[in-house]
Amino acid sequence: MLDITNMTVEAARKVARGCEYCHGEGLATIFHRLYDGAPYVSRPAADGTPRRWVTRTTAYCVCEAGRVIAMNHQKHSPDAFAKMKDLAEIVDDLANGREQPWSPDDPTDTHDPTASWSKLRAQMVRTPPVQAVKPTATEQHMKKRDDDEQPLW
Ligand SMILES: [Zn+2]
Repeated sequence: MLDITNMTVEAARKVARGCEYCHGEGLATIFHRLYDGAPYVSRPAADGTPRRWVTRTTAYCVCEAGRVIAMNHQKHSPDAFAKMKDLAEIVDDLANGREQPWSPDDPTDTHDPTASWSKLRAQMVRTPPVQAVKPTATEQHMKKRDDDEQPLW
């Protein structure tokens, strides 16, 4: 098994280039069970006020690129990490019959999704344990520069 502990995002993306879920970018598209082709649904919030909910978004992919990006966020951007969904957890829930509204499968598609979950599980790259560290001044500077250039990272 490939050790991704100190892999850069660029190196991981090269390794993951053939990934069918993210095409090596590290982020896979996921769909909520209410997805009907539009990226949002309107449903009242718990207090009754009207709200728009995202029904199609991205999650850390199960491949090397997704794992390295997840590790980097976990270390340096815990807020981003907390907001982002993880395809590995979603597929694990689905494959084990646990309640999970999200799926890598488009519910407007009519094929049987179960096969793709098992395939996904077989492809999962395990993330080594990560300790959150305070970013150094250089890393903070680089993060700011990255943020300016790319909205997501
Ligand atoms: Zn991937």
